[in-house]
Amino acid sequence: TKWVYTFGDGTAEGAAEMRNLLGGKGANLAEMSNLGIPVPPGFTITTEVCTHYYANDRTFPDDLKDQVTAALEHMAKLTGRDFGDDKRPLLVSVRSGARASMPGMMDTVLNLGLSDATVEALGEEAGDRRFALDSYRRFIQMYSDVVLGVGHENFEEVLEEIKDARNYTLDTDLDPDAWLEVIDRYKKLVEAELGKPFPQDPMDQIWGAIGAVFGSWMNQRAITYRRLHNLPAAWGTAVNIQAMVFGNMGDSSATGVAFTRNPSTGENALYGEFLVNAQGEDVVAGIRTPQHLTRAAREASGVDAPALEEVMPEAFKEFAGICTKLEKHYRDMQDVEFTIERGKLWMLQTRNGKRTAKAALKVAVDMADEGMITKEEAIGRIEPGSLDQLLHPTIDPNAERHVIGSGLPASPGAASGEIVFTADEAEAMAGKGHKVILVRVETSPEDIHGMHAAEAILTTRGGMTSHAAVVARGMGTPCVSGAGAIRVDYVKQTMTSAGRTFQKGAIVTVDGTTGEVLDGEVPMLQPELSGDFGKLMEWADALRRMKVRTNAETPADARTAVNFGAEGIGLCRTEHMFFEADRIIAVREMILSDTEEGRRAALAKLLPMQRGDFAELFEIMHGLPVTIRLLDPPLHEFLPHTDAEIAEVAKVMGVDREKLRERSESLAEFNPMLGHRGCRLAVSYPEIAEMQARAIFEAAVEAGKKAGAHVIPEVMVPLVATKAELDLVKDRIDAMAKAVSEDTGVEIQYHVGTMIELPRAALRAGDIANSAEFFSFGTNDLTQTTFGISRDDAASFIGTYQQKGIFEQDPFVTLDAEGVGELVAIAAERGRATRPDIKLGICGEHGGDPASIHFCEKVGLNYVSCSPFRVPIARLAAAQAAL
Ligand code: ADP
Ligand code: MG
Ligand code: MG
Repeated sequence: TKWVYTFGDGTAEGAAEMRNLLGGKGANLAEMSNLGIPVPPGFTITTEVCTHYYANDRTFPDDLKDQVTAALEHMAKLTGRDFGDDKRPLLVSVRSGARASMPGMMDTVLNLGLSDATVEALGEEAGDRRFALDSYRRFIQMYSDVVLGVGHENFEEVLEEIKDARNYTLDTDLDPDAWLEVIDRYKKLVEAELGKPFPQDPMDQIWGAIGAVFGSWMNQRAITYRRLHNLPAAWGTAVNIQAMVFGNMGDSSATGVAFTRNPSTGENALYGEFLVNAQGEDVVAGIRTPQHLTRAAREASGVDAPALEEVMPEAFKEFAGICTKLEKHYRDMQDVEFTIERGKLWMLQTRNGKRTAKAALKVAVDMADEGMITKEEAIGRIEPGSLDQLLHPTIDPNAERHVIGSGLPASPGAASGEIVFTADEAEAMAGKGHKVILVRVETSPEDIHGMHAAEAILTTRGGMTSHAAVVARGMGTPCVSGAGAIRVDYVKQTMTSAGRTFQKGAIVTVDGTTGEVLDGEVPMLQPELSGDFGKLMEWADALRRMKVRTNAETPADARTAVNFGAEGIGLCRTEHMFFEADRIIAVREMILSDTEEGRRAALAKLLPMQRGDFAELFEIMHGLPVTIRLLDPPLHEFLPHTDAEIAEVAKVMGVDREKLRERSESLAEFNPMLGHRGCRLAVSYPEIAEMQARAIFEAAVEAGKKAGAHVIPEVMVPLVATKAELDLVKDRIDAMAKAVSEDTGVEIQYHVGTMIELPRAALRAGDIANSAEFFSFGTNDLTQTTFGISRDDAASFIGTYQQKGIFEQDPFVTLDAEGVGELVAIAAERGRATRPDIKLGICGEHGGDPASIHFCEKVGLNYVSCSPFRVPIARLAAAQAAL
């Protein structure tokens, strides 16, 4: 078996498509090399070695050693250097790299190959002995920490001791002699800790590092990360060994990171940071302030430190050219790492860059406009759920801003909440319904659960590429990072800024768009839906087959939904209209009546109100279809329950308190979800359905007189199990339509249909379709009744079910395609067999869930209906489902 793939010098044995075998980093290093982009030579040990390692008691395949040795010889030939050579030593980095970039894996080890024998040669080549000795002691510290498990704090202590003894304050004060002492003490420290000396043989060093990378695949952090992100352990990681290049060989050397476009805004301009005379992680470590890459970015930010374009114009030009080439080649925004060694540019990594939802949208639309990708690809690249972030509030520019601190605008959007200082606390408080802001000095992968729970994240240390910033952007959570003037005291649980101290629980607002932190809660603005957003939505609309409607009963919701592109109302829940203060009395009167006459009298009071509601909705929807569901919940829900409530209502209504209590008790049910509700109410009290039908038809006549508001109302009967039930109610509706038509002299067009939300209805859909002109799948109830799980009581065990892998997803969030979905498919098929043009839609919560929308496309529903804020998400998801 071939376990090792080389790259460098304009060729490679691997390529980008071999990501599964070579990991993301290795595959892209090979690809860049193939493209003729300068990449330090090296090789990748495949993920199959990792799999073999764990399948065989943590041992390597027999022929791996020979293949690694051969690859090292190949590197030696390309670089003119040799492992352990005391004139021209080969130094390498050892880098892990799984298929998907994965925190929790072993940190990269740089400068491997340095030893007592090779360090002086490095000094001579660089013309700088201090630099070589400093590199060596860093290597001992890093290797010991990462590979040998001797914590870096041990080494920091030693260094402090030596500096104190010599009265030095800065690392740069140390002369070669001092560094030699540091190195000596470091080696002694390792030997004392481990009982054996620090490895001097580069072959020992390299095998130690390779073992550590594969070992880290099963460390706790990596396992947790994979579990949280659903990544299989079987993937394994690859190991990349690559010749070192030095960004820290003086002032003509540098190292940096860049995005080919702005990852926050999507703007088409090179975006990134670099440091002169620095190595590896120095840029992200936040020890020195990195400089801008382009003059334009520097000028826009108003800083003085010159840009790369200004200090190294030649290298910059080559770098900018490579970025363009990479973007064209990968047809996506790239996130790259580079190093300049004495004026010579080297690329160390490229990958598709993580970006905010806003940037993703702009990049996709721009690239389609540039002709780099198709509109279909642009649509496919946007995660529908991420649009949510663009629909969220930003701070009202006219609001008063009491700025209490500022940092970097690490992830856009704004949120207010109570400050907390640990991830656990954030999770606990959010669980109790609090909105929290997670405040940390910096974050690490251990904080992920708290970051998920928080409305926003604030850190006092770290840049745009810090952990907090990267993770927050990925989650779409507002984040301000590196707010250096804010002091966090974990012990006292306080945050101090500008002379003020904020206790845990104090309310602040984090504005991730500007980087500011504000005192208290601040007014927010609704987002802009034109521009790139509008364009992408237009493309999506042209591609999708299914219509997108909204679930709405208030005029405000209906208007929002129309703004978001809703093409009708798929579900108007009339009971919501009954709860309003001026109506609930009439509703209660109706319920309390012993006679039909009494009920009709009360209903007569409700009629004009309902008619007004419907007329307004019809006008807003301007001729778009509107589905109105007849009263669904059990009547008990409308009555007062506690003694105090009963007493008050009895007084207001002028009825006897005891009578009210009796009626309330008599209506109480053991299991209201399966009780006297839905069409069962219309069967027992047809006058309720009649009043609602009359209100609907009269409103239609009224609205029809206004321009553009002509509607064909769809009257929907809930919770039907048998055709006979539906027929009984339908007769009343039809009779009412006729009556209104006669009263008004206007011919009324309308449809009568039913919810399919009981398994029996799904199975008998062929029969029911003889009477129903449309079906709307009420997948909330259908999920409840199919699983026999009450949604309101599921919270106590659904989590456990998911942990134990019984449920992959919460079936109330994502439609259970196998079970509930089969009922939907059966009903659709049987319904269509009876009535080929029957209109099919979904109005459960699932109508706004992208995965469920894919299912709806598969069974050929005519539309999905969801809450107003999910409408854009559904439009995009429906387009993706149709692709
Ligand atoms: P990560 O996956 O955490 O980004 P990398 O393997 O990319 O880790 O290494 C981190 C940094 O180390 C790189 O961005 C680069 O600056 C530096 N580095 C890695 N390999 C080399 C090398 N061969 N020469 C110079 N610098 C290197
Ligand atoms: Mg990297
Ligand atoms: Mg229902």
